[in-house]
Amino acid sequence: MNWHLIPLSEITQLLNTTPSGIDDITASERLSEHGKNQIEDKKKKTIFQMLLCQLSDFMILILIAAAIISGIIGDVTDTVIILAIIIINAVVGFIQEYRAEKAMEALKNMAANYARILREGKTMDIPASNLVPGDVVVLEAGNVIPADIRFFETHQIKVDESALTGESNNVEKNPEELPEGNYALGDQTNMGYKGTYVTNGRALAYVVATGMHTELGHIAKMIQTDETTTPLQKRLAAFGKRLSVVILIICSIIFFIGWLRGESVLTMLITSISLAVAAIPEALPALVTIALAFGAKKLAKNNALIRKLPAVETLGSVTYICSDKTGTLTLNKMTVQEIFETSDTKYEAFFAEKNALLHTIALNNDVTKEENGKWLGDSTEVALVQYAFDKNLNRADLEATFPRIAELPFDSKRKCMTTIHQTQNSNGEIMVITKGAVDVLFHKLNDNQKSLIPEFESKVNEMAEKGYRVLGYAMKTLPSLPENLDTDEIETELTLIGFVGMIDPPREEAKQAVSECKEAGIIPVMITGDHKLTAKAIAEKLGIISSDEDLVLTGSELSALTQTEFIKIVEKVRVYARVNPEQKLRIINALQSKDHFVAMTGDGVNDAPALKNADIGIAMGINGTEVSKEASHMILLDDNFASIVVAVKHGRKIFDNILKFIKYIMTGNSGEIWAIFLAPFFGLPIPLLAIHILWINLVTDGLPGLALASEPSEANIMKRPPRNPKENIFSNGMAIHILWVGFLMGIVTIGMQAYAIHNANTHWQTMAFTVLCFSQLGHVMVIRSGRESIFKIGFFSNKPMLGALLITITLQFMIIYMPFFNEIFKTQPLSFYELGLTLAVSSIVFWSGEAEKWIKNRRYTTI
Ligand code: ADP
Ligand code: MG
Repeated sequence: MNWHLIPLSEITQLLNTTPSGIDDITASERLSEHGKNQIEDKKKKTIFQMLLCQLSDFMILILIAAAIISGIIGDVTDTVIILAIIIINAVVGFIQEYRAEKAMEALKNMAANYARILREGKTMDIPASNLVPGDVVVLEAGNVIPADIRFFETHQIKVDESALTGESNNVEKNPEELPEGNYALGDQTNMGYKGTYVTNGRALAYVVATGMHTELGHIAKMIQTDETTTPLQKRLAAFGKRLSVVILIICSIIFFIGWLRGESVLTMLITSISLAVAAIPEALPALVTIALAFGAKKLAKNNALIRKLPAVETLGSVTYICSDKTGTLTLNKMTVQEIFETSDTKYEAFFAEKNALLHTIALNNDVTKEENGKWLGDSTEVALVQYAFDKNLNRADLEATFPRIAELPFDSKRKCMTTIHQTQNSNGEIMVITKGAVDVLFHKLNDNQKSLIPEFESKVNEMAEKGYRVLGYAMKTLPSLPENLDTDEIETELTLIGFVGMIDPPREEAKQAVSECKEAGIIPVMITGDHKLTAKAIAEKLGIISSDEDLVLTGSELSALTQTEFIKIVEKVRVYARVNPEQKLRIINALQSKDHFVAMTGDGVNDAPALKNADIGIAMGINGTEVSKEASHMILLDDNFASIVVAVKHGRKIFDNILKFIKYIMTGNSGEIWAIFLAPFFGLPIPLLAIHILWINLVTDGLPGLALASEPSEANIMKRPPRNPKENIFSNGMAIHILWVGFLMGIVTIGMQAYAIHNANTHWQTMAFTVLCFSQLGHVMVIRSGRESIFKIGFFSNKPMLGALLITITLQFMIIYMPFFNEIFKTQPLSFYELGLTLAVSSIVFWSGEAEKWIKNRRYTTI
């Protein structure tokens, strides 16, 4: 449909709507007719397909075939049991994949976008996915356009359509229908498209298309889908492939040795394939997803909403946190402390010989008053307005006498804002009031005042050194409103009226968080549009600046540096003052070129590129624009710096626990392989049956392994340096641990077997099976902490682990002592002595693991 060519009156008819919107009932009808307003992901697998997928693994297929053949030839129970275990395995794998998917979906929903709409004239916010054609959306600067829309009321609205058209200039929009013709998307000036965003102004518009019917929907297949696999998952998948090859080679060796020793071909086939199935960690990537997604859920409780799953994993690698000052490091609760008025009294005439500064404060702002008397708006402005109206000004009178006829909105690049008012003077004069950063205003003053600038400057510095934010007010008159509202032409030749110093106290908890950061090897950096001295004073209070080495750089100093020069000093800079959002990108690039891992906060439209390019882009949940949220990896729900640090801590813990999990699973697998591989070399029969191997893989490895995700954080978690994201996870002693502890498990297992066989004990297989099983349980207790002894962290500090151990032990006892399971697992009840012996032997792994930590700790403390 060519919506841009149709007159508005016809559009309302076609969409059956009005400028005040549709009603809720119509909306829900249309929602079921048109579907959700969202871009569909690639085809989702059905539950059946997911299940089938679990079973279609090549090794599993061979195992099924071998089991069936062996069933036909002889032992049917064996076949049934193997098939049953394979199916349970598939179901568990399926549940895990399903849970991972659900968790990812929940994550997406948490970070859902909202759209402001009109329904029967009432303004409300609804999830953008519930928009329907005919809805009226209310848009303002910073909003992402939630669907394809046709504007019907616009106020200086400009839209960034680069996401769709590649055109980087912002397009101005208006409601006018276009004359007949062919228009490219970028030329359809009365339309807005899903996924683009508003950079200026406000507007009302009708939704004309939603979801897959939007332009974005049409090209969705061409757009790269979001990266959801994390670096760790990618590495694990690649590692898994190589490992599979090694395991297959080992298993075929085991097969041939067994065969040469005279075992039946089929038994050896089933045993070696079961071993391969058990030892190849194909489920690891899915399990990592679950761990990360659940971690993300916990993070949300701590006010950090994860938008991109990899962020959970990479949080632990952050070496620099670059944070905005206002609101994040400070409370964003400003109060006026001090004012300074210039001696120029020319303009007091306008205000009936009353104080010009107070009047300009009262006029130049976008603050509104709520019914309950609360001021609503930007906190800087609220502070100013509060100050002015505490001095008995009447706002209604003032606004009637000096109606605002135009404005140049605040922009953090210009650091100024101008309002233009009609005066009552008979000559029709208009009045221009500019407020903004004082040093910026200095460049805009008329010649009369230029000589006074040094005097003003020293006064400003005096305030800024106390940590005050200083805002200046300047004025001029013009004969009439110029046709073209050019900032350079209007904000010039001004007369400074005075300036105001406000305090925005630092957050108490931020101070604590800053010192925690430093201890954790993370460098906190403050980025602000504020004055150098103000920023420095606050940074000192927070502890961000603590020595003379720490630099403060201003935006203009930064522009004067070449990138090479900047990179040389970037690691010393702790505060960036008077910077533009665009410069954040340079800061990120410089830090990244020094191999740093950068977290960066941002709230404005102009912050989006920086947020995207940071290793972790953090948007503000309360004061952030939608565009910044959309570009971010993580949203801070409370806008608080301290929450970033808490998130980093959680990220480190989650990653730790994933590593523990991998360590546990892989060591267990290594133990099984060693046991079966080594046995023939000692002249022993295969210690375990295929079902024993599959059982250990399913239960003994599975349950306690999962419980490792609930492990509380290590005591030193924020006292050690960040993890190098490039570092191989196996390099840190993990590979050695997997090999030697696995070897030990294998040795104790076949040792038990050899001892029993030597004593003509017919229970040798049950004993070996139980030793391997309990060795693993002992090992999981060791692994719970990487450094500290289990006796120090306590056996009971991870409740889910206790539950998992209890279940696993009970099941193992059932296998040993219940006749039904004896039949199935070909086990025999152990005597009291035999059981005691197996338990004692199993504990060898536990004690050795504890000893390893003890030795390591001694080495740490002596170095
Ligand atoms: P930050 O939030 O990092 O402190 P901003 O980019 O919001 O910095 O503001 C930069 C500077 O612009 C402030 O230091 C102040 O001097 C000025 N400023 C901030 N808000 C306003 C406003 N509403 N009107 C005019 N000037 C402002
Ligand atoms: Mg600000």
